[in-house]
Amino acid sequence: MSRQQTHVRRTTETFVCGNCGRTVTPPDGGTAIRNHCPHCLYSLHVDLRPGDRRCGCRGLMTPIAIWVQSDGEWSLLHRCERCGFIRANRIAGDDSETSLLAVAERPVCSRDR
Ligand SMILES: [Zn+2]
Ligand SMILES: [Zn+2]
Repeated sequence: MSRQQTHVRRTTETFVCGNCGRTVTPPDGGTAIRNHCPHCLYSLHVDLRPGDRRCGCRGLMTPIAIWVQSDGEWSLLHRCERCGFIRANRIAGDDSETSLLAVAERPVCSRDR
């Protein structure tokens, strides 16, 4: 009886990833805004500001780089395939580490020895 019943606030909606086709559900806990696919890290250009869903572009946003901020927090840089807009998004706790590392290593691996 002591467990408090809290309503889950839907800050994000369930969406189908435009790249890998998986269904992405809102994160548990409700603190983070899910704005990219945790499997392949692709995002959709739907926000003018994070979470507002007011942008009509809806282009697929490709993860192009990892940006490590001064406090050690990792962000993903996404670029919209349709309009070229680039935005930094915080990574989520359940993002695929393999995919994150693949993005982080991409520039290093672009040259043959
Ligand atoms: Zn995906
Ligand atoms: Zn766009």
